[in-house]
Amino acid sequence: MDLIEKHGIELVGVAVALVAIGAGAAYILLSSKKPKACLDPENFREFKCVKRTQLSHNVAKFKFALPTPTSVLGLPIGQHISCRGKDSLGEDVIKPYTPITLDSDVGHFELVIKMYPQGRMSHHFREMRVGDYMAVKGPKGRFKYQPNQVRAFGMLAGGSGITPMFQVARAILENPIDKTNVHLIYANVTVEDILLKEELEGLTSKYPNRFKVYYVLNQPPEEWNGGVGFVSKEMIEAHCPAPAADIQILRCGPPPMNKAMAANLEALGYTSEMQFQF
Ligand SMILES: Cc1cc2nc3c(=O)[nH]c(=O)nc-3n(C[C@H](O)[C@H](O)[C@H](O)COP(=O)(O)OP(=O)(O)OC[C@H]3O[C@@H](n4cnc5c(N)ncnc54)[C@H](O)[C@@H]3O)c2cc1C
Repeated sequence: MDLIEKHGIELVGVAVALVAIGAGAAYILLSSKKPKACLDPENFREFKCVKRTQLSHNVAKFKFALPTPTSVLGLPIGQHISCRGKDSLGEDVIKPYTPITLDSDVGHFELVIKMYPQGRMSHHFREMRVGDYMAVKGPKGRFKYQPNQVRAFGMLAGGSGITPMFQVARAILENPIDKTNVHLIYANVTVEDILLKEELEGLTSKYPNRFKVYYVLNQPPEEWNGGVGFVSKEMIEAHCPAPAADIQILRCGPPPMNKAMAANLEALGYTSEMQFQF
């Protein structure tokens, strides 16, 4: 009897050990398996809008579901997607957009969209409701990023030009092996126009030594300690890394701003290799 009991206990022990080993192996296998990217560079794929959050009178955040809760979009850092929709005349329109989510955000991706009254794709987003599908193709873009490829980034963003900057900054700051510093100058007309303000404040308080933001407004409120007017050479000198081979300044804004910033940067001695426009 004793013998049976003893062997019985041993057998249970072995079985438990085997189950534990099996579960461990399955976990390692599953966690090491890279999830399949959902984007196709050649063909548009449809993604369902599962949430729409109005952020201001002309800006909304759209959340799109990926095929499974563990799917990833498969967008390299700093690249964008092409979205296809219909304008107010029912004609097809395709425009580039940069998700504010990363591949560490599984199961969905999010876009922050500024809608212009006369904008063709803006019309499509204005009409888009939860349950609607949007056609997306990608990835697209020339920006290539490797952790620590530069010592510091300066970023000059205007309006919705914040989206690629936010995506790159998040990817850098949330990567424990990346030591890059990020200095963002973000220009808008009024304080209400500042997009992703809470998210940016979140990054500055979490990474105070590595991420700095300087806001610039054309029409500042009465109490305002940021910049006023357009982004000037002096503001760039004061808030961005000085010209050097191991820094880069990223630009993304409306075309007139991009043009003005290119001129400012050139006058300050930043070579073309030290600049990138999204
Ligand atoms: C790489 C890249 C990423 C982008 N990511 C985003 C993003 O994440 N979110 C986002 O909202 N936009 C983003 N944009 C801008 C986007 O692609 C469209 O240009 C924008 O949505 C306007 O398109 P539309 O068809 O509605 O307007 P259009 O029909 O092209 O323009 C109609 C009118 O809208 C106004 N307008 C259009 N664009 C601007 C502008 N930039 N500034 C001021 N007025 C303008 C003008 O009055 C213009 O005459 C990105 C652009 C690029 C190049």
